[in-house]
Amino acid sequence: MSLGIFGGTFNPVHFAHLRLAEEVREALALERVLFIPSADPPHKDRDLAAANQRLEMVQLAIASNPSFEALDVELRRPGPSYSVDTLRMLSQRYAGKPLWFLMGTDTLAELDTWHEPETFLGLTNIAVVGRPGSLHCALELLVPERLAGSFVAGRGLLRHPSGHEIRSVPFPPLGVSASDIRRRVARGASIQYLVPDTVIDYIQKNRLYEGAA
Ligand code: ATP
Repeated sequence: MSLGIFGGTFNPVHFAHLRLAEEVREALALERVLFIPSADPPHKDRDLAAANQRLEMVQLAIASNPSFEALDVELRRPGPSYSVDTLRMLSQRYAGKPLWFLMGTDTLAELDTWHEPETFLGLTNIAVVGRPGSLHCALELLVPERLAGSFVAGRGLLRHPSGHEIRSVPFPPLGVSASDIRRRVARGASIQYLVPDTVIDYIQKNRLYEGAA
């Protein structure tokens, strides 16, 4: 069976992340979805919680779902954290299992800014869900021009020469974002029903995002 790989900042993890992972897991009959928080970038933003805190929030959020797992691989690797390196490692660890990288349309549209995007596309399938506020159009128009040339369009999917595909998965639009959640915390507004209660407790106990811009 296939594995889902869900990389992100998760600053903090929220219900749109969780619902996205559940929808894609079900639609593609994935065995498991691995949540992989990114490490701390060299120049840390003021409102970026520490990597271990973002990992702990993910662990709290997914605790009740046996199909979800949190991996600390990007936290344990020294230097900048690149998804392509994580995929190289996972494709060896899970050799023979198809991998699906989960992302929203906003992320697909900026894939050309990632490290070694061509290599990344050769290592994984991609499951894309629509994100409110980002472009809504055919997959072939969403993929950055520089990367689009190597794909062949099929029915609701794009096929890469490596055999991998980019496929869109239906997703009821959820206008939740981590940046909005951080701003709400900073102004003392409620974040209930945007984030699991266990994550709200964690944010309060650790006084995260109180000065977020
Ligand atoms: P921020 O608001 O700080 O940019 P975020 O909410 O986008 O954060 P990330 O951790 O950067 O959270 O997102 C991880 C992945 O989840 C990305 O691929 C992003 O497109 C996707 N994603 C996040 N929120 C949504 C949403 N509401 N709908 C669809 N996809 C989403």
